[in-house]
This record gives sequence, C-alpha cells and structure tokens, in this order.
Amino acid sequence: MATTPSTATSRLRPVWLSEVPPAACGTLTQDVATEVCIVGGGIAALTTAWLLLQSGKQVTLLLPQDLRSGPASQSSAHLSSALPMRYHQLASLHGEPASRLIAASQVAGIELLESISCGLHLECGFTRLNGYLMVPPGENVQELEREYAAIRRAGLTSVRWVDSVPIPRFPSGRCLQFPDQAQFHPLRYLSQLAGRIVSAGGRIFGQTTVATIIPGSHPVVRTACGRQVRSGAVVWADSRPLGAVLEGAPAPEMDRCDHHVIAARVGVQSDAPMLLWDTGTPDHQARLADLGGDGVSTPRQVLIVSSRHPLLGDDIPHEQRFRMLELWALERFPSIERIEYRWNYQASSASDGLVSIGRVAAGAGGVYLGSDDAGNSLTNSFVAALVNCSSILGHAQPWAAVYDPNRQGQRVLVAHAESAPSIRPPGLPAGALKRESWSLPVPKSARQS
Ligand SMILES: Cc1cc2nc3c(=O)[nH]c(=O)nc-3n(C[C@H](O)[C@H](O)[C@H](O)COP(=O)(O)OP(=O)(O)OC[C@H]3O[C@@H](n4cnc5c(N)ncnc54)[C@H](O)[C@@H]3O)c2cc1C
Repeated sequence: MATTPSTATSRLRPVWLSEVPPAACGTLTQDVATEVCIVGGGIAALTTAWLLLQSGKQVTLLLPQDLRSGPASQSSAHLSSALPMRYHQLASLHGEPASRLIAASQVAGIELLESISCGLHLECGFTRLNGYLMVPPGENVQELEREYAAIRRAGLTSVRWVDSVPIPRFPSGRCLQFPDQAQFHPLRYLSQLAGRIVSAGGRIFGQTTVATIIPGSHPVVRTACGRQVRSGAVVWADSRPLGAVLEGAPAPEMDRCDHHVIAARVGVQSDAPMLLWDTGTPDHQARLADLGGDGVSTPRQVLIVSSRHPLLGDDIPHEQRFRMLELWALERFPSIERIEYRWNYQASSASDGLVSIGRVAAGAGGVYLGSDDAGNSLTNSFVAALVNCSSILGHAQPWAAVYDPNRQGQRVLVAHAESAPSIRPPGLPAGALKRESWSLPVPKSARQS
C-alpha cells in the first residue's frame, strides 16, 4: 500500500488562495441608496450583480470580509449537472417534472459561467470536460443503474455507460460518463469579475457585516457598524441562514457534511483532465487544475482530491480523515509527487436536496435568497443568479417554482412552469447559450399534476 508522500508537511489552506492575492475594498462608512443591495461576495453574489448591471440596474455589494473568505475559495470547483442528492432521490421526493426542471437548470448554470467567462475573456481556467460517476471497488452497480434511468427521465440524455474511466489501471469498473461538465478557478473568476463590476459602476464594500434586514417595498439593510443601505431589492447571497438577520425568514431543515481536500503536485505524465466522483460514504471527487503562470507563481499542475462525509456525531479526527483521503488518492494516482495543500470545511445543505432561491415570503417584499455552501452546489449559485435576476427584472422564470424558498412539504408544484416563457438572462452575448436549456418542454403528465 502506498505510504508516501504524506500530507503532514503540506500547507493548511485552500490551494486557490496561493494564486489570488487579497484585494483591498473599502468598507461602508456612510448611508447609501441603491436599486439592488446584494449581501455576499461569492459566486452567486457577483454573478447576480453582473447580470443586473448589464440590465441597467444600480447594484451595491456588501461583503462580511473579502472575496477570498467565503466557501468558494474552499471549493474544488467541479461544475456538474450531477447533484449531491441523486436524481432518483430527487424524483421520488419532488416528482419527475421537478427533476426535469432541476436538470435543465443545472445545465444552464454551467452555460451561464461559460458565457460570462468566455464573453468577458476572464482567465479563470474554464474548461469543458467529461465527468465520471462510479461505485467504490467491490460495490454493486445497481445504484448507478437506478440513477442512470432517473437521469435519462430527467432529460440528461447524453449521459452514458462506459466500461471504465479513461485512466490506466484505475479501479472504476463500469461507470456513468457525463459529457459537457466543467471546471474553473473560483477565485480568479471572482476577482476578475469584481474588477468588471466596479468598472461597470457597481459598488463593492468589504469588511461590512449585515446585522439586520428590515423588509418592505424598499427594504433597508443595517450593518453591524450602524450604516444603512436603502434599496428596491435585497439579494441575500451569504451562506449564513437568512434567519440570522431577517425575522420570520424560511428555515429549511439542513444536513451538515465535513469536507476534506488535498491538492497534490503531479508529474508531467499525468492523466487527461476529467472530473471523477464516487458514490461511497464518504464520497470522493478528483480533478486536475493548471495553476500559476500568471506572474504570481510558476505554471504547474495539481490534482485536487476531496472526500465528504455526513456529520452524524462520529468524531474521527481530521488527521485520520486526511490520511484516509491521502491513501485513497495515492492508490489511484501514481503521478502524485507531493501533497502541497490540504484544508477542511463543514458545509450544510437542505435535507430535501434543493437550494432555496427566490423571493422570500410575503411581508419581506423585495428580499431574495440564493446561496448554499453544500458540495456540488456551485451550479446552484449560477442558477440563483439567473432566477433572482429574472425575478427582480419582472420576468417569469420556469425554474422558480422548484427552488421556491417558501415551498411547503416535499413535493414542489411545477405545473405552472409550462406557461412561463423561456428567457435568456440579460446582458449575455447573443447566441452564447444553448437554446434547449432555456425552453424545457414540460411533459403532459406534469401539466396534469
Ligand atoms: C470543501 C468544499 C468543496 C466544494 N467543492 C465543490 C465542487 O467541487 N463543486 C461545487 O459545485 N460546489 C462545491 N462546493 C460548494 C461550493 O463551494 C458552494 O456551493 C459555493 O461556494 C456557494 O457559492 P455562493 O455563491 O453561494 O457563495 P459562497 O461562496 O457560499 O459565499 C457566500 C458569501 O457568504 C459569506 N460567508 C459565508 N461563510 C463565510 C465565512 N466563513 N467567512 C466569511 N464570509 C463568509 C461571504 O460573503 C461569502 O462570499 C464545495 C464546498 C466546500 C466547502
């Protein structure tokens, strides 16, 4: 069994932080008015700000710390239409029509990132690539067969069976290939998009923690330092629960997971880029990333490998978790030369598998939700930007019902999605998005449900 190299000498922080230096942004020192106030400095916050600016809205962003401090910098940044909750589970909880809308929205989330990063020439390593979902060695593929059937019913018809992942001697067995997934560098995206937002007239205030939101047709955001922002709408894209600052906000049931991640230097003969995921407990993920070469550090390739396990009260020490992850990686990737970084983070996700996006209940006029730090939730951040932006601009959005923060019980109602016009998000280059994902046909069975 492989025993070296060890994570013991690696740096205890996310690899992305070595690449993007902290950027100074001023704090809010006076009361201001704006059309849309966005709280948060992650993917959902900045992407929403950009889309709204392109539609002529005035936006002001309030970040509790800075662009590097949120969960995006902890992420391994796989962009996938395969969510942590499997499609067969989503279909049984929310119904098949909902699972079709979820799948389409996830595809569109990836397209939105592609449109923005390519349209603005952001150097954030956006790459389309295949993803592979496999069971751990020795486990039955029955789980994958059930998932494959549900994925096809959800409309992701390009997913197919392959005999193994295209890595020599990798113990994947028969597995599912997801074409057209993506990866990127989350902090480069955030820092470069922040620059574009400021150039386009958006205002960004760092070290500005929001203490309270007073709802109303013109909600007021009060900061911990006693300043206030009066606006036409507030978007809460902070991964703290909205209930911390807005009385009566929806409080979905959440599950917590512990993530452990390592980033290892790999030799030049490393494998082709792809995303790998398994269905184990803990589950594992792996991807390559090209780093450096931007004047800050020398170009190099790292392999980012992570595991995620539900927090159920067991207390396996972090060192042991890292060691198990390291052994999992070393057994599969002989190209690993040195483990350079490791980090861990506890994230939460809604127990019904769906992030909450959209306008919160009556009485909180103009307050919109849209953030989640669960694993594989980056696509949801782009979906949140699309749905909230459309809603603020007064357009109907076919996916809004699925992610409605006020949804009751477990079955979401999607029948009315049929009548919602498909829209392209504002401000995107014409033809940048694949049309199909914006006008998903709703089957007859859904119209009657
Ligand atoms: C280890 C790990 C690996 C992940 N890997 C993936 C992956 O491969 N693919 C994927 O799709 N998703 C992944 N995720 C989930 C992904 O990182 C989040 O879903 C995503 O960052 C959410 O983005 P957001 O737009 O909601 O903003 P966030 O990045 O969640 O941030 C929201 C804002 O909240 C505030 N905030 C929240 N917490 C803090 C804090 N502790 N300190 C300061 N400010 C804070 C900040 O203003 C921040 O900007 C991973 C998460 C973790 C923890």
